Amino acid sequence: VPSGASGPEPSLPEGDTIYRAARTLAARLNGKEVLRFHSTVPALVNARLEGTHVAGVEARGKNLQVVFDDGRVLTTHMKMTGSWHVYHPGERWFLPAHRARAVIEVSDCVAVCFSAPVVELHASAARLEQARLGKLGPDILAPGFDATVAAARILSRPALSLGEALLEQSLLSGIGNVYKSESLFLEHLSPFVASSTVPRERLIALVARAESLMKQNLAPGSGMRTTRGQHAGASRHWVYRRSGEPCFVCETTLEMRRQGASLRSTYFCPRCQA
Ligand SMILES: [Zn+2]
Repeated sequence: VPSGASGPEPSLPEGDTIYRAARTLAARLNGKEVLRFHSTVPALVNARLEGTHVAGVEARGKNLQVVFDDGRVLTTHMKMTGSWHVYHPGERWFLPAHRARAVIEVSDCVAVCFSAPVVELHASAARLEQARLGKLGPDILAPGFDATVAAARILSRPALSLGEALLEQSLLSGIGNVYKSESLFLEHLSPFVASSTVPRERLIALVARAESLMKQNLAPGSGMRTTRGQHAGASRHWVYRRSGEPCFVCETTLEMRRQGASLRSTYFCPRCQA
């Protein structure tokens, strides 16, 4: 079961995708003895995790972490390219072996992390928290997530455009490109205005919208549909990857523009989001 990024172009795995991947891995690995661990990351070559048992698999923002019963934590950050796949022993891998960054083998399953830019092994969860402190904003899918707090964090970078702010993982973590474009459309907000020009209440509503869209998609197999129960035909999305097509609300031609230092694609309706 390939989990995570897929499709012809690499796409940024959204937080909800990583939650689903973590759930799949947990179901297959939890409680089982590691028979073989292999990594191409130099710092992990002598990790010697064999003989430990998998104690848990968790998602946090765009990180997926595997906790072992000796306390160590393997953390993988997916960024644009990473994905975890689960295979039966001996089954042919979906991606070439040289892209495997970490491989965990238990008796009846092989879990492979492909192409994740960050793969680290920490001595304990406490050490991991220390390393991470201040680097990652509140996780939009975590229990107790507070949109008001997240909106305040966005306002701490007042010059940042809304499209960039929603992807800035140090402000709030978990939102990727799909939910960024879709939330901005549904809240009638331009991706290109600075957050300081937007009333606080609308920023809170924007974050809450992203949160509810993502939480609706946590069920297995639900995909990343944002048009559920709404009049958007068979389309899964209002604007994402629909540039050149008419807006479902006003029929204006939708556009795509690259945004921010990393030139992330932003899809929008120039009329609804004027
Ligand atoms: Zn429109």
